[in-house]
Amino acid sequence: MILELKDICKDYMQGKMVVPVLKDVCFDMEEGEYVAIMGPSGSGKTTLMNIVGCLDQATSGTYLLDGEDIGKCTDNHMSDIRLQKIGFVFQSFQLLPRQSALENVALPLTYAGVPKKERREKAFEALERVGLADRVDFKPTQLSGGQKQRVAIARAMVNHPKILLADEPTGALDSKSGQQVMELFHRLNEEGVSILMITHDAGIASYAERKVEIMDGILKQEGVSIV
Ligand code: ADP
Ligand code: MG
Repeated sequence: MILELKDICKDYMQGKMVVPVLKDVCFDMEEGEYVAIMGPSGSGKTTLMNIVGCLDQATSGTYLLDGEDIGKCTDNHMSDIRLQKIGFVFQSFQLLPRQSALENVALPLTYAGVPKKERREKAFEALERVGLADRVDFKPTQLSGGQKQRVAIARAMVNHPKILLADEPTGALDSKSGQQVMELFHRLNEEGVSILMITHDAGIASYAERKVEIMDGILKQEGVSIV
């Protein structure tokens, strides 16, 4: 199992008031699976993704990533896990505007202490993998939205993470570019990459092998109704 979440709750403090955002979320994912989490705005998707992505800790419950209990991890250890095991893709690409595509993709390798020559080689390979070998020296402003997202996917994949986490990866794209990103996800998944994708778009969710829904912080598996 790559992910095992059991009775995950997340509360936020609003002044002195406790606001429950995730309510006893249980969710497992096998290695190599491709799962979409669907839900309307404000339902807790990003909150859940931040916990799965080791950017935040749950208030209660247990979360195992690749067998490791994340609730017991220090902040430093969580950042190591992010670097080694997780690739992130965001709606807004999150590329550094003044750096080339190659430099953006190489960034996680810099944090991982990989020497410069190897960084460039690996970043080039990752860009080749997403079909952008001819755009390595382009800056984000010189790329289309779809190309920017493919650079972001190359950056997410450059460390060969265990799992790719994508929060509304097509949310800022036109439908054709969105479809290309979905074709790329499909190919990466066929190559063995586990993918967890958040979307509020049913058409996009249908690219995944399995769908789960979240409503008001309650997660339900496909075909199982919440009473
Ligand atoms: P989604 O990604 O599904 O749109 P979010 O996970 O971003 O939803 O937010 C779920 C709920 O949690 C929302 O009601 C939001 O206002 C609340 N929330 C999110 N982040 C915080 C925060 N840092 N502090 C307080 N409330 C938050
Ligand atoms: Mg969100």
